[in-house]
Amino acid sequence: MSFAALSRLQQGLAALQDDHLERRRLVLDGTQGVHVTIDGQHVISFCSNDYLGLAADAALVAAAHAALDACGVGAGAAHLITGHHRFHHDFETAFARFVGKPAALLFSTGYMANLGVLTALAARKGGVFGDKLNHASLVDAAQLSGASFARYRHDDLAQLEGQLAVSRVQDKIIVSDLVFSMDGDIAPIDALLDLAERFDAWLYLDDAHGFGVLNDGRGGLTERARSSDRVIYLATLGKAAGVAGAAVAAHENVIDWLIQKARPYIYTTASPPLLAACLIESLRQIGTGDARRERLRSRIAQLREGLAGLKHGSLMPSDTPIQPLLIGTNAGAVQLSQALRARGLLVPAIRTPTVPADTARLRITLSAAHSAGDVDQLIGALHDLV
Ligand SMILES: *Cc1c(COP(=O)(O)O)cnc(C)c1O
Repeated sequence: MSFAALSRLQQGLAALQDDHLERRRLVLDGTQGVHVTIDGQHVISFCSNDYLGLAADAALVAAAHAALDACGVGAGAAHLITGHHRFHHDFETAFARFVGKPAALLFSTGYMANLGVLTALAARKGGVFGDKLNHASLVDAAQLSGASFARYRHDDLAQLEGQLAVSRVQDKIIVSDLVFSMDGDIAPIDALLDLAERFDAWLYLDDAHGFGVLNDGRGGLTERARSSDRVIYLATLGKAAGVAGAAVAAHENVIDWLIQKARPYIYTTASPPLLAACLIESLRQIGTGDARRERLRSRIAQLREGLAGLKHGSLMPSDTPIQPLLIGTNAGAVQLSQALRARGLLVPAIRTPTVPADTARLRITLSAAHSAGDVDQLIGALHDLV
């Protein structure tokens, strides 16, 4: 059966294919890690966000087994009904203490946390001010909040200052990735905080890629930002923490407000409590994870040194596990990704709309679980191909 609405979709899909913008899912068998089986092929993966190698860690798996017997599988209800398990509660307490904030709230995903925070704090009469390279979930959250939404050029604090100066809204919130997810660079946190203080704004920092990795695992906050009640901190827990979910840490009253007002917290079933039990173990592993972080740092240094002399390209400036190789065209990025794949190396091509048009790139991510030999293979292949 064919009808006009369906054939418009078919044309849309064909157009994406022509523009090298079609996205495909790869099927993974077995556990997540750096040596994985993808679509039946054994590959070395340079694309997960499992920066510490915790996703299939034995201690976390053991915590999941133990919790399963203690709490079953499903949460059964929302947090404000009967779904708020002691494991959720204990994780929040431990997380707040670990990141040095007074209180914390656990969401099911980072996407939902961003939506919850921005809609609860900015609402219709508020204003959101966001870096243009912020993660898509922050852009969506700002738009869905109904608040006025100004975007400033990446790290352009003069432009942000101008936007704050002319704004007449009362509740302002400056929003930024802490580690930019497709670039790997770090936001100018203290300078953002200066502006937040001058213009009486909140500063919301999304540390999806710094938590577990930076500052002994406590994430990328500066000491000043950690102790400022204006700063609301987000860590997502499906990346370095190796599990799932996201936690917001802030002043107690901010957390109380979110419990009252954040609809993606209120109107959804609580995440399975066994995940919170795994997260408690994950916090322990992150807290004692210096050796993992040291290995990760040496792999980052190895990759950057190894690719310094690349003939036709270079890594973008970054000290974090996100090490993008800028290519430019969609077709160029896709072809290079495919050539690496033929050699058993998995590095995805990131294209618009995830990144601005004409800045297609290979987003290489490193993990403490990579060996020096794994990284050498990638360096060798890129010298042959680029
Ligand atoms: C991955 C990511 C999110 C979304 O977190 P999920 O838990 O995967 O939903 C939010 N912000 C940034 C910067 C991210 O990289």
